[in-house]
Amino acid sequence: MKRIIVAAVTATALSCSTDITKEDIRISDYKDGKECAVSFTFDDGMKEHCTIVAPELEKRGWRGTFWLCCAWIHDDPQIDTTHMTWQEVVEMDRKGHEMSNHAWSHANLTQVTMEEARAEIEKNDEAIAAHLGKKPVTFCFPYNAYNPETVELAMEGRVGARLKEFWLGGQNSPKEYLEKQIQDALDSGSWIAGMTHGINYGYDCYEDPAEFTDFLDYVKAMEDRIWVGTFGEVAAYVKEAAECKLTVSYEGNKVIVSPGLDLDSSLYDMPLTMEINADGGKIKASQDGKELKPEYRDGKAYLQFDPYGGNITIR
Ligand SMILES: [Zn+2]
Repeated sequence: MKRIIVAAVTATALSCSTDITKEDIRISDYKDGKECAVSFTFDDGMKEHCTIVAPELEKRGWRGTFWLCCAWIHDDPQIDTTHMTWQEVVEMDRKGHEMSNHAWSHANLTQVTMEEARAEIEKNDEAIAAHLGKKPVTFCFPYNAYNPETVELAMEGRVGARLKEFWLGGQNSPKEYLEKQIQDALDSGSWIAGMTHGINYGYDCYEDPAEFTDFLDYVKAMEDRIWVGTFGEVAAYVKEAAECKLTVSYEGNKVIVSPGLDLDSSLYDMPLTMEINADGGKIKASQDGKELKPEYRDGKAYLQFDPYGGNITIR
């Protein structure tokens, strides 16, 4: 009796895997097939980003994006006690946080010449690259002030610039406001970026710092639906997902998926998620001789693949 049951289960699994059609395969809008994405971003390189924010994000398995004005970053902590030191910036980078460009001296780039705007951006790039060995791939405008010309300038060699944000900080963002941002992102399948400055000090700090961690917990509780990624990760993923083409063909009982993506792979370097309507069945997949381990949720299989790689074979 036992043997018959095993045989029946095998037959079901086989028939499921060979039933996969072109329509059953797509690239997920967000990593791991999440419904929306949230980036936690923090402006101006405040000291508390290193002492409070980063540890709270790390505790939840997340990484944040921190926009630096390098005119305010020093080696000696006595020179400026309100901003991070270079040593702290390097430590945060090593822990996987995105340490990015907020212009050298926080100049309003719409109120200076284009030459001055370029110098503000490039000088900051150079200072960050000198300490971290890489140029930031994203940008955040001081005062959130930009125009089409400065956006074009800031986007040179980058995957994204923050052009829209919601306020994570205290007085401006009661609990109901914050929770609505998340609900709206889930409803519309959007990517949203939160921003704030200091936690305990600064003009937009929290009356009660617990409001900050409470909101992180609120998002954490819905993490099966929400991708929390750095600004650079989500910007790269979204562009790649929009431009990557999948060509599906069949070889016996195997499905062959060929990805095609024509972007700068040194800049747009995120693996993509493929979702396969597997009807509750299990699949086996590989790309370039490497096994791709699927995750299963709601009858679908999710695979991480290299959009610049070779054919993906699915059985
Ligand atoms: Zn700022």
